[in-house]
Amino acid sequence: MERKNEINEAALCDAWDREHLWHPYTSTTNPLPTYKVKSARGCVITLADGTELIDGMSSWWCACHGYNNPALNAAAVKQLGDMSHVMFGGFTHEPAIALGKKLLELAPDNMHNIFYADSGSVAVEVAMKMAVQYAVAESGSHSKTNFVTIRRGYHGDTWNAMSVCDPVTGMHGAFGSALPIRFFVPSPSSRFGGEWNAADLQPLEETLKEHHDEIAALILEPIVQGAGGMWFYHPEYLRGARALCDKYGVLLIFDEIATGFWRTGRCFAWEHAGVKPDIMCVGKGLTGGYLTMSAVLTTRKVADTISDGEAGVLMHGPTFMGNPLACAIALASMQLLESQDMAAHVRHMEESMERLLAPARDFANVADVRVLGSIGVVAMRNPVDVGEFQKECVRRGVWIRPFGRNVYIMPPYVITDEQLKYLAEQMLEIVKTLP
Ligand SMILES: *Cc1c(COP(=O)(O)O)cnc(C)c1O
Repeated sequence: MERKNEINEAALCDAWDREHLWHPYTSTTNPLPTYKVKSARGCVITLADGTELIDGMSSWWCACHGYNNPALNAAAVKQLGDMSHVMFGGFTHEPAIALGKKLLELAPDNMHNIFYADSGSVAVEVAMKMAVQYAVAESGSHSKTNFVTIRRGYHGDTWNAMSVCDPVTGMHGAFGSALPIRFFVPSPSSRFGGEWNAADLQPLEETLKEHHDEIAALILEPIVQGAGGMWFYHPEYLRGARALCDKYGVLLIFDEIATGFWRTGRCFAWEHAGVKPDIMCVGKGLTGGYLTMSAVLTTRKVADTISDGEAGVLMHGPTFMGNPLACAIALASMQLLESQDMAAHVRHMEESMERLLAPARDFANVADVRVLGSIGVVAMRNPVDVGEFQKECVRRGVWIRPFGRNVYIMPPYVITDEQLKYLAEQMLEIVKTLP
């Protein structure tokens, strides 16, 4: 199947934008190509010149139902007629309540209190603040305030979220001594679906044994490490980590911002291990990719201990907390997920991607191919030139944005079999040509 687009780069890269608008991780002096989008519908993104791209990224994990979804649009329009926002301090509203009930139905059964926040990074900040306030209230000491995490993680771009990102692929180098110093242990080497190697837990055990008096919580992404390395690890690691946290009186925070809402084949990734966290962050797919919103869930014990502590409250309260418009859309998104057999659908996507990406295992420039749920990764031996890769994607009518050595897709769930086949085939055609 050949469908090469004739791309006029200059027409699609707006000169004013290039001069004035900062794009994520893009230089102002030597910018990556940035394509102008006119509209998006279902799994297709249409550029300003009419070029159509099959979306492989779900706009960074969030547009799980694709774009311009009629049910989500209707929920937004209905809520706009009532109110798009009202302060959450002193007020509450039906969208926040209905969404909260739904989240608690889906979350581990020990989750009891919900804090709505603005974005994934802010959810991570809030989760870390919860852990510190809990540790201070519980231990009566202000020294149990640091964090331990596993390498290759990604938790967002704000200050404390950044401090627990992988120190190499993250941004530690750029910020140097401005960042708080965390405890890092190696990422588990045992892969998902492979043999379990108990030695994986040893560095965590040693760190907790020696430093638990300084550590409020262990924070990690369960099962799938996303932007930090696109690595899928063994569920046994989470079981061992839970036991160690309990043994050493350290809270366990699961960052499910990328993995939530069926991305890994289960509603949340913790379900692969049957291990419940003390604090859990959700975001990205929460609103089906419509608006920025996240939530931090925790146990009654953590919430009440913080509230009975010296501060008396959790010290956080964003202006747009519990935004009704975002809550109404998130609720519609969750109802849409509920109306489908998502386990079967994601299994089907997984089987298709496994079959379609398997040929890359024989490419000399490919180090590894792994698929879990609706996530497909081709790990290259060498770093990938994002700009050049994306030019070729646009020429071929697909949208993939590699990071580091990883070329990966996590398409919207509405992708058709035919679209997925085309997307994966074009991905491998481009991968073949890489160094
Ligand atoms: C994207 C991401 C975040 C940050 O979310 P933002 O909405 O970009 O702030 C945090 N944790 C994980 C696991 C993520 O994938």
